Amino acid sequence: MGQTSQFLWMNGKLVPFHDATLHFLTPALHYGLGVFEGIRCYDTGRGPAVFRLKDHMERLLDSARVLGWNELPYNVSELCEATKQVVAANGFSECYIRPLVFLAQGGWNLSVASGTPEVGIAVWKWEQYFSEEALQKGVRANVSSFTRHHLNGTMTKAKICGNYVNSCLAKTESLRLGFDEAIMLDPQGYVAECTGENLFIVRKGEIHTPPAAAVLEGITRDTLLTAAADLGLKVVEEPISRDQLYIAEEVFVCGTAAEVIALSEIDFRPIGQGTTGPVCRKLQQEYRNITRGRHPRSAEWLDYVKAAERDYREAAV
Ligand code: PMP
Repeated sequence: MGQTSQFLWMNGKLVPFHDATLHFLTPALHYGLGVFEGIRCYDTGRGPAVFRLKDHMERLLDSARVLGWNELPYNVSELCEATKQVVAANGFSECYIRPLVFLAQGGWNLSVASGTPEVGIAVWKWEQYFSEEALQKGVRANVSSFTRHHLNGTMTKAKICGNYVNSCLAKTESLRLGFDEAIMLDPQGYVAECTGENLFIVRKGEIHTPPAAAVLEGITRDTLLTAAADLGLKVVEEPISRDQLYIAEEVFVCGTAAEVIALSEIDFRPIGQGTTGPVCRKLQQEYRNITRGRHPRSAEWLDYVKAAERDYREAAV
């Protein structure tokens, strides 16, 4: 199993990996009633640091609110501390972090209000979502036959477990067709996002990205919008059509897991030079420096684990 660690954090305490189990009748498993986050901890010159931890935890609680939970057992700062504690306890210098709020009991009448949510945080080593070669040359994508969420169906702002069936349908189809990633169109037919990434294009030297309304408000997307503004690059948020992808100079996607990666080909049409273009390359480098503590923006966005590590060691003796 790739997702291994020594400990998980479950409902307020560290639990050994093999004890972090749930019952078959956990309602979240039956109805997809849970919300989650995907976060990364990076090895920086000053030890491990979690990237935009508070923003991720705020989005986790926003997702819970969209799902209909008005009260949760932990607040943002408690969840941030718990995250640093579980990273420190496992001694990871770099890792992926997966908090999950899930319906642990009740809810069998299909109302989230009649059940009890519980919280867990897992961590594991997950170095690259795409290969090193993909980072250099980009990956091949297709426009999925599956439509992205309707604004008034499951909605687009929450990372609700059940919503990810849509991403899994699209990704499975793409991989079976021989592509690496799926681009999903919204119900109106405009480009929305990929299965786990937001999308940007470059046309006539200008960067464009779909407006926030129809997509997940990605934290990497926001980081790139800030990095682009810092570099004096203009980004226009406006609807993008399928054929605008085909004739773009560059198309690239971004997300916590995938980081920043070019699409070299879409639906058998090479994009630009068919490899990572200059704008994507620049933002890739900026993102790498920001997340690894080598950028003026790093200070505001990195949450160092060191203090938690010390506290954990002291508590352990
Ligand atoms: N869109 C979707 C559908 C996603 O699942 C993700 C991953 N969370 C993203 C975009 C990118 O979001 P972030 O940059 O916050 O990881």
